[in-house]
Amino acid sequence: MPDSPPYIELHAHSAFSFLDGASTPLELAGAAVALGYPALALTDHDGIWGSMEFAHCAKGLGLRPITGAELTVRVDGPKTGDIDRFSAHQPEGAAHLTLLVEDGVGYRNLCRLLTAAHSHTRDNTARVAEPAWTTLEEVERHADGLVCLSGCARDGALAGAFARGDTALGEKLGRLLLAAFGRERFRVELQRPYWRRDRARNRWLALLAERLGVPTVATGNVHAHARSRSHVQDALVAIGLNETLESSEPRRRGNSTSALASPAAMAARFAEHPEAVTETVRLAERLSFDLTAELGYRYPGSEDEAADGELARVCAHAFAERYAGNRRRAEAERRLGEELKTIRGLGLSGFFLLHRDMLELAREVALEVRGPGSARSVLPPGRGRGSSVSSIVCYLTGLSHVDPVQAELFSGRFLNDETSSMPDIDLDFPRDIREVLIPRVHERYGHEHSALVAAFPTYRPKGAVRDLGKALGLPPEEIDKVAKTVGFHESAIEVERDLVATLGPGRAAEPRWRVLLELAPEIMGLPRNASQHPGGMVISTRPLIDVCPVVPAAMEGRQIVQWDKDSCGDAGFLKIDLLGLGMLSAVERTVEEVARTRGEALDLSRIPLDDEQTYESIRAADTTGVFQIESRAQMQMLPRTQPRDLDDLTVQVALVRPGPIQGGAIHPYIERRKRLREDPTYEVPYEHPLLRPVLEETLGTIVYQEQVIEVAMALAGFSSSEAEGLRRAMSKKRSLQAIESHHEHFVLGAAERGVAPEIAERVWQQIQGFSGFGFPKAHSAAFGLLAYQSAWLRVHRGPEFLSAYEDVLARLADLTGGTDVALFTGSGTLANDVVAWTLASDHRLRRGLVLVNGEFGRRIAAQARRAGLQTTVLAWDWCRPWDLSLVERTLEQDSRLDWVWGVHLESSTGMLNDVGALLELLRARRVRAVLDAVSGLGAVPLDLTGVHLASGVANKALGGVAGLCFVHAARGALDGVDGGHVPSTLDLREALATRAAEPNPWAS
Ligand SMILES: [Zn+2]
Ligand SMILES: [Zn+2]
Repeated sequence: MPDSPPYIELHAHSAFSFLDGASTPLELAGAAVALGYPALALTDHDGIWGSMEFAHCAKGLGLRPITGAELTVRVDGPKTGDIDRFSAHQPEGAAHLTLLVEDGVGYRNLCRLLTAAHSHTRDNTARVAEPAWTTLEEVERHADGLVCLSGCARDGALAGAFARGDTALGEKLGRLLLAAFGRERFRVELQRPYWRRDRARNRWLALLAERLGVPTVATGNVHAHARSRSHVQDALVAIGLNETLESSEPRRRGNSTSALASPAAMAARFAEHPEAVTETVRLAERLSFDLTAELGYRYPGSEDEAADGELARVCAHAFAERYAGNRRRAEAERRLGEELKTIRGLGLSGFFLLHRDMLELAREVALEVRGPGSARSVLPPGRGRGSSVSSIVCYLTGLSHVDPVQAELFSGRFLNDETSSMPDIDLDFPRDIREVLIPRVHERYGHEHSALVAAFPTYRPKGAVRDLGKALGLPPEEIDKVAKTVGFHESAIEVERDLVATLGPGRAAEPRWRVLLELAPEIMGLPRNASQHPGGMVISTRPLIDVCPVVPAAMEGRQIVQWDKDSCGDAGFLKIDLLGLGMLSAVERTVEEVARTRGEALDLSRIPLDDEQTYESIRAADTTGVFQIESRAQMQMLPRTQPRDLDDLTVQVALVRPGPIQGGAIHPYIERRKRLREDPTYEVPYEHPLLRPVLEETLGTIVYQEQVIEVAMALAGFSSSEAEGLRRAMSKKRSLQAIESHHEHFVLGAAERGVAPEIAERVWQQIQGFSGFGFPKAHSAAFGLLAYQSAWLRVHRGPEFLSAYEDVLARLADLTGGTDVALFTGSGTLANDVVAWTLASDHRLRRGLVLVNGEFGRRIAAQARRAGLQTTVLAWDWCRPWDLSLVERTLEQDSRLDWVWGVHLESSTGMLNDVGALLELLRARRVRAVLDAVSGLGAVPLDLTGVHLASGVANKALGGVAGLCFVHAARGALDGVDGGHVPSTLDLREALATRAAEPNPWAS
């Protein structure tokens, strides 16, 4: 090659080194291409969490990805004793090795080594993640197919020994590694972070290499794709060490030189060791393993030749039953034939049978969990969501409950001949069934063959403020105050605004807060740690640890693969999403409750789908507690969109999503719907006539995910694989850049079809705004159906439905001193606004005073009155202080009030003082209180005698995580009150019971 670069980087970390890498794999790949690298190795600490993502985006950019990892190995391991020195955060006695994959055997060995390195990381009783490490013996056993570099300047097996003055150990380790990997696959690694002893160390290493008879190789130990991220890297390291930037200084030396540099600059950096530079290029050539093509994964059933026939038989059997006498039978039959043909062509029959198998397993589990003869047994064990609902095969195998022919759903997106990854089948289960099902799946397919999918929580504004604030050594009280005001989706400017509002402009302008504001946007979106996906599982015929490292999960008996759902999808893994859906749990309890109180066996699959009363309540936005259409935004929209049937509900569910909102679909849709209602001859306007066929059902707006693809194909002539590329770009995180790369092609393609540039541009803006944050139509259809069913239950079996919302609350009501009701609401800080009522067996609500926010409060009050419930609801706006005089008046009017339920006091810090005032007032009146989500109370000295802290339980009911913050706060709060009783998450309920059993302290 004429202009092959002098150097290739073989040691680079991404943010998937978790708090020791400041760039995403995409950023690294992009920078490498810009600097003229033909190949780049990703070597994250003890994992290949980011490797699949890296391999795919590198290949997309024309960069050859090399797979590897930096492995932590205990070098003065059990043989020399000293286990105690191997403490949690400073793995003394441990060394780093840089491992690079040469071929399939090497990849398998790397997976096994990484699995071994993590196997003990949750062995402690609290199952807190500890650092990964493995032994030299393991490395010796799994050396085949791997190239070993001797490790980094500070912690490397050889360089580290030199740094600690133990050259004899260094020499010994060198010989050991040489014996394990052989002369061809062991190299002495040189780095030059510009430390004081760089030269001496590298001279010693070069001499050692000479004695061992192996070449040296230069690496950059890259931790960022650009120098501008060095400060972020500094901050992340400090966070990882749980120290401040100042105190972590010695561990951060070298960060400024750890940005990816050009090949020429690297060659210059190692001018004293030119042979080590050339060796990078020679070595890179040999490292030809391609992670995107050579994984060797097979899912169970893929080799089963009888699968095609079996699937066809299963479908034919169900078909005869479901479509007997159906007027669209012929159409259904044709679709079934087509789908089966596609499935056969893709070799996926086994995949569908496996899902069916899983559903059978779920049926067994459901029977067990529900108990024999349960009223719930008429309900299916779970139901499909997502695009699989569009498939008639899924409908016939029981995976979905929507007839796709009837609902006019087309399976093109779910199943087509060009699909490169496995189609997704997502199954929703009531939570109790899912909890039992997951370990059962492990049992059925074996621990070697099944694992949960990983998830990578990324930095959000709140976490960024907390972690950076700590690293910058800012006062904890100030950090706490600011973090509490910062919202989930806030931009950097909004964070700044919150900072100024909380601490005042003077304090906010101080240098350390300025630094925080600069770093916060950079850190946002980077993965902070690995965790587990709520329900995604992968199943493999080959042992999973041969295809991806498997690590223990926080929950006992569960394990996760090192890839998230996108990477698993790219790997072609068979992924099954077993999701817990709170609404299904509520439906199950309603059915049970109906059987108990009315002696009625309610079969939800047989309720009428055109019940006028149900639609009336929906149109009146009387939907508190109804699945999906109960958020404030939905409630505002329902009276305007006026849904009349399931198709309308399908649109309704999809409409209030970030995609359609940002894509500007909502207002045109509402407006056009209104015009059509008033005048059936109204002509819906389209940006261009070419869009009419694809946007007709949504009145010219982009509402469903697949419409983006259809628009790109119709307007800009995208081929289906190009459109698939656009879809993939939209489905990834941090993808604006990836989406934008289709922009030009879109505009040019549209021009070729005679579309004016300004129209093409306008439609592109809609697509970009949409960015994939929307539902596929099939998913909306499944959710729309559940929305209808829950609305129906609410209208026709109201008390049972509302009381079944979360039985935890019923128990809570018992706990709170025999009061036979609990009424509570979640706030806008949670995903859904939920109001739940729990009623005692006599279906009566007793005196309770409920503080809820504005519109909600009014709504609840109206409902309560209509239901003949005696309650008093005070409307109260989150953002404003409570109107205490209103509370006072109410207390005066109703002397029988004996307790107060307050809600989500955490959402505004200013409210904390009001809590104090409120409690004073209640105390004077001898009214007891139950406070929900009082997470700020720790900071305010309050006397909480007579107050029941309910949030841990209430939030659990909502599936929210805010309960955790509550427990922290409750600790502080209770410390002062009880002289130190600290309820943990687990015994919170017990604590409540204890407190409830106490006599009302204000009553006497
Ligand atoms: Zn290292
Ligand atoms: Zn490193």
